[in-house]
Amino acid sequence: MSHPVAVIGAGPYGLSTAAHLRARGLPVRVFGEPMASWRSHMPAGMVLKSTPVASSIDAPQPGHQLADYCDAAGIKRLVADDDLIEIETFVAYGTWFQERLVPGLERVRVVSVDRRTAGGFEIKLDSGEQFTARAVVVATGLSGFARLPAELAAAVPDGPTPTGPVSHSSQHAGLDRFADRELIVVGAGQSALEGAVLAAEAGARVRLVARTTPGFGGPPWEQPRLRPRSPFGRAWSLYAISYHAHLYRHLPPQARHYLVHRILGPLGAWWLHDRFEGRVEVTEVREITGAAVADGRPELTVRTPGGRLREIAADHVLAATGYRVDLAALDFIGHALRARLAVSRGTPKLGAGYCSSVPGLYFTGLPAAASYGPAMRFVCGTEAASPRLVRHLVRAHGADSG
Ligand SMILES: Cc1cc2nc3c(=O)[nH]c(=O)nc-3n(C[C@H](O)[C@H](O)[C@H](O)COP(=O)(O)OP(=O)(O)OC[C@H]3O[C@@H](n4cnc5c(N)ncnc54)[C@H](O)[C@@H]3O)c2cc1C
Repeated sequence: MSHPVAVIGAGPYGLSTAAHLRARGLPVRVFGEPMASWRSHMPAGMVLKSTPVASSIDAPQPGHQLADYCDAAGIKRLVADDDLIEIETFVAYGTWFQERLVPGLERVRVVSVDRRTAGGFEIKLDSGEQFTARAVVVATGLSGFARLPAELAAAVPDGPTPTGPVSHSSQHAGLDRFADRELIVVGAGQSALEGAVLAAEAGARVRLVARTTPGFGGPPWEQPRLRPRSPFGRAWSLYAISYHAHLYRHLPPQARHYLVHRILGPLGAWWLHDRFEGRVEVTEVREITGAAVADGRPELTVRTPGGRLREIAADHVLAATGYRVDLAALDFIGHALRARLAVSRGTPKLGAGYCSSVPGLYFTGLPAAASYGPAMRFVCGTEAASPRLVRHLVRAHGADSG
């Protein structure tokens, strides 16, 4: 019997990898909720920060780009750098991609992955089924990696919740619930700035608490002409991480870990600036020193840039404080397998072809960013990742050894 490759995850990276594997004729089983992060963990009304050229899911054959979906759906063709992509359009594009190239997707969770002594991997599903895979691709994206700073976590011992005093931005599929309420948004990246704007537009009184003055990028027509073009804009660094992602893992570890956060760091989209100004009050702080809940209302203690301590209260605190890769959060990876995985600062150390230190176990998307660079944090990174990963997997495991 020919054991399949298991792809865990049905977001842009899982779908793209699965499409490439199927095109190479390998048996593949793909697990997950299609476009789950986009459907359930980002706010309705959101607009993608990435431009159309940076928002296609890589496919093995032509005809599956965002513009192709627009043609098929009979909607405005999104191609120019200043064409804005609404999240609803992107979810529909991902679903269309899945239906065409990854039919038979299994909407079940993988609950454990372990290595078999006879070769291959033992996979358990939450349906109760158990089977053997010749190789495994982990494409679970943002799942499990939401980061809540310790000062905020201390205020909610039972964890953040959308209906409690403190939540994480990933816990909201819409921000209408904050209409007529006082909301503190913590953070300075696109997710914080756009979340603040969406809540304010829904009728909330919003204060953004951040360690820097919120910054916004320039519009596409103001990009420097003499620098090379990349899906992320014109700059040598962006060109390098887009088209030479495979070289990133050869940089020294300190440089890799530094650059993965630094390049394409927190900055609002150019089109958000006008919607933000005048709608959201900004409180710049040196740090948040503590948080507490009194009578159900969260209260932050902050140190001002001048060094004074100050209290700020609201009905709710929304922490748009991002994501941090930590393999410990991927609880489906069995203990024996985990013990054999080489890890650097919580992230899997990947070699050629996105393969981990365990032959046959691959990581793509966000967990691959510390090895393959910041492009892996974005949809357009599928273009660098999927063909390379699949070439490696086919060479190493094309003939079933399990
Ligand atoms: C607010 C916000 C805005 C963003 N905007 C942009 C943007 O404009 N442009 C851009 O390029 N990127 C953007 N990103 C980044 C974007 O989320 C990622 O680039 C992309 O979603 C990564 O895709 P993925 O396939 O790796 O993972 P995800 O999209 O996170 O998908 C994860 C998949 O894994 C599945 N899964 C998880 N655990 C299991 C399990 N145990 N068993 C089975 N399945 C499992 C889920 O069901 C889901 O299908 C944004 C992120 C956020 C938070």
